[in-house]
Amino acid sequence: MRFAIVGSGMSGILAAIKLKEAGHTEITVYEKAERIGGTWRDNRYPGLACDVPAHAYTYQFAPNPEWSAYLADGAEIQAYFEKTVDDFGIRPLIRFNTEIVAMDWIDDRWRIEAANGEVDHANVAIIATGVLHHPRMPDIPGLDSFAGVAMHTARWDTDVDLAGKRIGVIGNGSTGVQLVAHLGLEGHRIVHFQRTPQWIMPFPNRAYTEEEKAAFRASVAAIDAVRYAPEFLHNVDRFANGITDKDSPQIEEIESLCRNYLESTVSDLELREKLRPTYKAACKRLIYSSTYYDAVQRPNVTTVVAGVERIVPEGVIDGGGVLHELDILALATGFQADRFVRPMSVKGLDGADIEIAWAERCAAYLGITIPKFPNLFFLNGPTSPVGNFSLIDIAERQWAYVEQLIARLSATNAKGLFIAEDAFATHEKNRVEAHRNTIWASGCTSWYLDKTGVPITWPWTYDRFRQMTAKPDFANFVVL
Ligand SMILES: Cc1cc2nc3c(=O)[nH]c(=O)nc-3n(C[C@H](O)[C@H](O)[C@H](O)COP(=O)(O)OP(=O)(O)OC[C@H]3O[C@@H](n4cnc5c(N)ncnc54)[C@H](O)[C@@H]3O)c2cc1C
Repeated sequence: MRFAIVGSGMSGILAAIKLKEAGHTEITVYEKAERIGGTWRDNRYPGLACDVPAHAYTYQFAPNPEWSAYLADGAEIQAYFEKTVDDFGIRPLIRFNTEIVAMDWIDDRWRIEAANGEVDHANVAIIATGVLHHPRMPDIPGLDSFAGVAMHTARWDTDVDLAGKRIGVIGNGSTGVQLVAHLGLEGHRIVHFQRTPQWIMPFPNRAYTEEEKAAFRASVAAIDAVRYAPEFLHNVDRFANGITDKDSPQIEEIESLCRNYLESTVSDLELREKLRPTYKAACKRLIYSSTYYDAVQRPNVTTVVAGVERIVPEGVIDGGGVLHELDILALATGFQADRFVRPMSVKGLDGADIEIAWAERCAAYLGITIPKFPNLFFLNGPTSPVGNFSLIDIAERQWAYVEQLIARLSATNAKGLFIAEDAFATHEKNRVEAHRNTIWASGCTSWYLDKTGVPITWPWTYDRFRQMTAKPDFANFVVL
C-alpha cells in the first residue's frame, strides 16, 4: 500500500512515524514549506507559548524530559518536532517545497499533483494541512497606507528591531494577549486595540529545575505525573464537560475563576471595566495567561477598547477618532479556520468535490472521513474537538482510528472505504442539534462559528470523543 501525507506539522509527523513503525515502506510526506513544524514553524512572534503543559503537548511515544518549563515556548516546541523527526528517521520521507494543489480519486487510487507539476499516486491519503494555517488579514481601511512595519503575527519578521518603537497590536485572542503580555513586561510601548474583552484564566508558568529534569530523565512515571496531574485533568474535564451546556456549573466555575482573577488583579477600576467581558466565559476560546493583566497595568501599555476606525501612514485612528502614532503594527487577527484543505482541489468518487461538499459547512465524521472520498483521512480535521487541551492527544486518538481503517483495507483487499452518506448525515444532524446548547453558541462571535453560526467543533464531551474514536463501526462505512 502506498501512502501520501500532506503536511508535516504535528499531525503529518505523527502519521509518518506511525506508518513507518507499522512496517509500511511506501510513504511520502508532502510539505509546501522548506521545514517541518506547521504552526510552530510559522508563528515566531514574541511570547508565543503553548497553553497546555509541555508534557501534555508531547507525543505519547516520544516523551521529552528536557522541557525547560511547565509551559513551553514556540521555539522549544519547534525544536521538539525537529528532533522527533530525526529520532524516528522520517526526514528522508519528506518532500519539502512541494505544495499539493490537486488530488483526484481515479482508478481506485489518489492521483496527487504538486504545484511544481510532479505527479504521484497513493492508495491512502492523509490530510494534515492544519486548521489554523491561513492567516486572516483584517479588513481595515487604509491598512496598506501604514508607513511603518505591519505584520501578521503568523508572519512575524524576527529581524525587525523592536527597541524604542511604538507598537500597536490589533486583536486580543490568545496570540494578541501573549504578545502584549510579553512585550509589555519587557517595557515596550504598546497600544493594544481590542473590540471585545476576553475572559482570562490564570495559569502560572515556571521553569523546571535541573533536579526535576533529572527525575524526568530517570523515569517516565515522573513525566506522567505532570501529564496526568489531577489538577490539569480537572481543568481539562471541567472545560470538556462544561462546553456541552452553556448553563453548566462548570462554565459558572470557569467564569467565577476568571472574574475573581480580573477583580483581584486589576486595581484601576476604569481599566477593570474596560477588560470585563459581557458574554459567557469560554464562548470564545478561553485565554490562559498569568501575565497579561500585569502587563496592561504598566504605564507603557495602553488598552484601547474603542475599536479601530482606520489606519493612516502615521498609525491607527481608533473608533473615538483618536490617532495613535505607531512604528510597528502587529496584526493578531487569527486564521481562516474554514479554509481547511483549500486551496487544494480534492475530487472523490462520482465527481464529488470538496469545495461543493463543504460549500455550506466544513465538517468530517469524527474530524476524520467524509462520504465519497475513499481512503482520505484527516487528522485534526474540521469538527474535531478544540479547546484548552492538547491537540496532540486528539491527533493520536484519530490516528489510532485511522490505523484500524487501514488494517481493514489490508485485511480485506478492499480498494477503498469512507463513511456512508446516511451515517454522516445523521452524525451531522446530531452534531448541529447538540451545538444549540453549547457554550460556543451562547451568543458571542468567534472563529469557531461557521458562516451559518454553527461551531466547527465537537459539541459533546471529550469522553464521548474517546469512546467514538476507540473502534470504527464498519457498518457505517462504504467499502469499495
Ligand atoms: C498561535 C497558535 C498557538 C497554538 N497553541 C496551541 C496550544 O497551546 N495547544 C494546542 O493543543 N494547540 C495549539 N495550537 C493549535 C496547533 O495548530 C496544533 O496544536 C498543531 O500544531 C496543528 O498541527 P497540524 O499538523 O494539524 O497543522 P499545522 O501545524 O497547521 O501544519 C500543517 C502543515 O501542512 C502544510 N501544508 C498545508 N497545505 C499544504 C499543501 N497543500 N501541500 C503541502 N503542504 C501543505 C503546512 O505548510 C504545514 O506545515 C496553536 C495554534 C496557533 C496558531
